[in-house]
Amino acid sequence: MKIAIFSTKYYEREYMDNANTDAGHQLTYFESPLNAHSTIPLSGFDAVCIQLSDKIDKETVTALSKQNVRLIALRNAGFDNVDIAAAVQHKIAVVRVPAYSPQAIAEHATALILTLDRKTHKAYNRVRENNFSLQGLLGFNLYGKTVGVLGTGKIGAAFCNIMIGFGCRVLACDIKESEALKAKGVTYHTFEHVLQNSDIISLHCPLNAHTHHLFDAGAFARIKAGTMLINTGRGGLINTKDAIDALKSKQLGYLGIDVYEGEENLFFKDLSESVIQDDAIERLMSFNNVLITPHQAFFTKEALGEIAKITIQNFTAFENSEALENEVLS
Ligand code: NAD
Repeated sequence: MKIAIFSTKYYEREYMDNANTDAGHQLTYFESPLNAHSTIPLSGFDAVCIQLSDKIDKETVTALSKQNVRLIALRNAGFDNVDIAAAVQHKIAVVRVPAYSPQAIAEHATALILTLDRKTHKAYNRVRENNFSLQGLLGFNLYGKTVGVLGTGKIGAAFCNIMIGFGCRVLACDIKESEALKAKGVTYHTFEHVLQNSDIISLHCPLNAHTHHLFDAGAFARIKAGTMLINTGRGGLINTKDAIDALKSKQLGYLGIDVYEGEENLFFKDLSESVIQDDAIERLMSFNNVLITPHQAFFTKEALGEIAKITIQNFTAFENSEALENEVLS
């Protein structure tokens, strides 16, 4: 099968080519993203392979359909950048990689917590300048703290297990309850209860109409003063402007984010010689209790290997007209 792979990063090709050794698909890599303004001719390609920075809206789907593309294969789990209804209407199948390494993301959320808490990033820089003072490095024990987890699917469950290991009390909120987590001591509550009773809250639910700006001014008003909020889910779960206000009033004590509302204009790019036009992220970076990482939670060797393997399996299943176990239908 001939596949056009968009938004290819230098680190991906090796993993994709290795996974494709036996399958033998014809992979063509493009560094540019796929969107309604793409100029790359797609005639002759059976499938496009995309990731989060590609914008597959109605217009893009119509353009793909005109060029006889029959498959959109996501190299990630979330699919909020694809108009699924339009794809269904044009009879273009959409597949994704629903899980590749939940531990990679859960462990990164933990890294954000520990860095914000114990301030190892500050200590690292300080010690290199022969400053061995403890001033400003005071942290707190995770042991005994109450951690709220929104979404206890694959990543949320892995995160709950890590927090249990630290000796935390875990309060969860999900529309589906996990019996396995309950057996380990996790208790399920309303969003309200989790908001009001957690020292740390970590977001692991998908972005959709119900969860968009889940953390807005109203939610920030109801958290315990000084709460730490961690977001490795999607940027749109948090209203950035309201988060800035909550940080300024000290109602929000710490913010650790691997995802950001305006990340498509920033993340995965070296902008070190550019003038950043996004004032909100610049303001966020000015707080010493905010830690931002550039959507790197998934970025482990194990996760890249799994993403490539499952993506190639998705191509092969489609080519062989097999049931698409990773198809996105709505
Ligand atoms: P999943 O589908 O296994 O779990 C999501 C859970 O959220 C489900 O249990 C679902 O019932 C629950 N949920 C849905 N709506 C909810 C709501 N309103 N309130 C509370 N819970 C709700 O997904 P996953 O693999 O665990 O991934 C979770 C999210 O993590 C993805 O949607 C994606 O946005 C994000 N993600 C981020 C990265 C990264 O690198 N930062 C990588 C992969 C995934």
